[in-house]
Amino acid sequence: MQICEIINVGTELLLGEILNTNAQFLCRELAAMGISVQRVNTVGDNPHRLREDFLHALSRSDIVLLTGGLGPTQDDLTKEVVAEALTLPLEEDAKQMQCIKDFFAVRGLPFSQNNRKQAMVPHGCTVLYNENGTAPGIYIETGEKVIVLLPGPPHELQHMFAHALAPLLQQRGEGVIVSHHLRTMGIGEGRMAELCNDFLDSTNPTVAPYAKDGEAYLRVSAAASTKSQAEDMCDCTIKKLQKVLGNYAYSIDKPLERVVLELLHAQNKTLAIAESCTGGGICKQLTDLPGASRVFGWGVVTYADEAKQNLLNVSRETISSVGAVSAECAQEMARGMLARSGADVALAVTGMASPADDTEKPAGLIFLHATDGTQHKSLKLETGRSDRAYNRSVATKQALDLVRQLLMI
Ligand code: AMP
Ligand code: MG
Repeated sequence: MQICEIINVGTELLLGEILNTNAQFLCRELAAMGISVQRVNTVGDNPHRLREDFLHALSRSDIVLLTGGLGPTQDDLTKEVVAEALTLPLEEDAKQMQCIKDFFAVRGLPFSQNNRKQAMVPHGCTVLYNENGTAPGIYIETGEKVIVLLPGPPHELQHMFAHALAPLLQQRGEGVIVSHHLRTMGIGEGRMAELCNDFLDSTNPTVAPYAKDGEAYLRVSAAASTKSQAEDMCDCTIKKLQKVLGNYAYSIDKPLERVVLELLHAQNKTLAIAESCTGGGICKQLTDLPGASRVFGWGVVTYADEAKQNLLNVSRETISSVGAVSAECAQEMARGMLARSGADVALAVTGMASPADDTEKPAGLIFLHATDGTQHKSLKLETGRSDRAYNRSVATKQALDLVRQLLMI
């Protein structure tokens, strides 16, 4: 397998001014091509450090892929540093020069002498012409090694990767790596890993647990010579994992809201949602999906006590005795929503997103209730955290999962 190392060049990356999305894009694309990215390094616009890191990368990797620093200005020096380190002279590429002149002419902009620098390419390289900008990409083969330079702007880099670089690299890749995520809810990362412990040491496919946004996932990755072989290997392992995890495993790759929407659709049911602390977030998640209108017609945000009473018929007695953040209130909200909307299933959420002065109830105390009139599912969350965004996002996820559980009874 070809070993690749990425060097992202740009001081703005080291200052935290922009996110290194080029690294993420390239890692994902290269993995899918069966090229193993083993290191990603970020270096500022400094010729000495760049030279040092480049030579180091070249000494241990088959492919060194550099991004950024191909612009027309003084601080853009990736091409110059790489050419010097490889002792390749820079020479003008006539086609690239014409491309740059055309680029300016089409936009009615004056051609600047700075841009002449962008038509200079290392001797003997393959030029990757840039259809979205003026900096060409560079592909160099020296013996067994490949060196690639790509422009920094993500839309230029991505287009160039797909159209010019991927076909060249494809010839060097040996097989493919396929990854899938088995997504779970209602079980923490620790317990999930414990149940799947026997799989975690396997080498092909590999199985790796991780947690994200209140969910726990298992990433299953297989390497094989063809995509369909790798898919079959993933499939076989995923089936075994699903057996171990049962209903906790709610999908392969698919987001929770999509699973809920599809379950509702398959059962020909509609959902209505009454929200308080999530402020409409659950409705947003569902309506972000195309096809939501087939299963979702009603949602309300009843933030104030009076709203819960007037719109959802929550009793005054409940509010005064146990308060709006209570299991009783969540249940009455769901009942009220079901009656009012005529939907088949109603979901309600009420809770403390952040600490408040007028109550003893802690932040992160959240009550959820889902019902279809006969069956009920309820959940009490105690996140123990004051982080408003976190509490709202966890409540949204858990609420959707409660509907999933109700639909699976
Ligand atoms: P450069 O090719 O270094 O002149 O980069 C041009 C622009 O591309 C920068 O100002 C950034 O906005 C963007 N850029 C450069 N490197 C990256 C990266 N690794 N990830 C995302 N954007 C980048
Ligand atoms: Mg730069």
